[in-house]
Amino acid sequence: MDIFNPALVVEHLSAGYPGHRRAIDDISFSVWRGERVAVIGPNGAGKSTLFKALAGIIPHQTGAISLHGEDCRTSHMLIGYVPQSDGVDLTFPVTVYDVVMMGRAREIGWFRWPRRADHLIVAEALERVGVWDLRNRQIGQLSGGQRQRVFIARALAQQTDVLLLDEPFSGVDVNAEHEIMNTLNSLQQGGITMLIATHDLHMASTQFDKLLAINQRMVGYGDSGEVFTPNVLQATYGGRVGIVGNGDEQMVVIADAQAG
Ligand code: ADP
Repeated sequence: MDIFNPALVVEHLSAGYPGHRRAIDDISFSVWRGERVAVIGPNGAGKSTLFKALAGIIPHQTGAISLHGEDCRTSHMLIGYVPQSDGVDLTFPVTVYDVVMMGRAREIGWFRWPRRADHLIVAEALERVGVWDLRNRQIGQLSGGQRQRVFIARALAQQTDVLLLDEPFSGVDVNAEHEIMNTLNSLQQGGITMLIATHDLHMASTQFDKLLAINQRMVGYGDSGEVFTPNVLQATYGGRVGIVGNGDEQMVVIADAQAG
């Protein structure tokens, strides 16, 4: 284990889509192993684009990404991406086990069968998020919280220790939110580093080690106390922003702004 380098270092990262202006521009931050970072910003701020660029799903236009001290372009290591679950076809007849095995696709390659090692890795990922007992269920038969945990297991099956979760709490009820948060807590205790895009500012300020506020450019990054201020929130969301109360009872009030 590399304790001298941060798990993830992002320097001057810009990315976007052909024919459009840059969706993210000049983003720099670093995350230590086991830290949990909330990525906040209004709709269209570039949170998903940042994650896709970090996971290598879209190329970055400028900048560098390194993982445990190694440049991502030369390293064999991966960053695991858990996309928003509303983009997933839940009527597709596939079992939980098969969904998690899809995380092994890159290693297995096309037209090959999974080996014993792949089955062991999938079993470990299923156990780690507590869905081993659900392995033979169809993905469409799961609750929102169970489904989200299966997608986390699929990312873990890539054998990564850095995860990007794109709004894992959106569209789930309070029970599922607790279920997912418990899973994230146990992964964090196991040394997994996580960046989580969320619209829940209260959760972002109370349940995370650090906040990354973006709106195309980086507006703020650091410990929650430093970033969760009216100035940074105003610069991130626009409009009029206020924080009411103190400690755990803080509430953000946003008027005339697109809060996402
Ligand atoms: P967020 O996740 O914060 O809501 P996104 O990363 O989805 O933001 O979007 C950032 C910007 O990139 C927005 O202006 C959005 O319209 C644009 N964008 C996102 N996906 C695409 C795409 N596939 N093609 C062109 N523009 C896109």
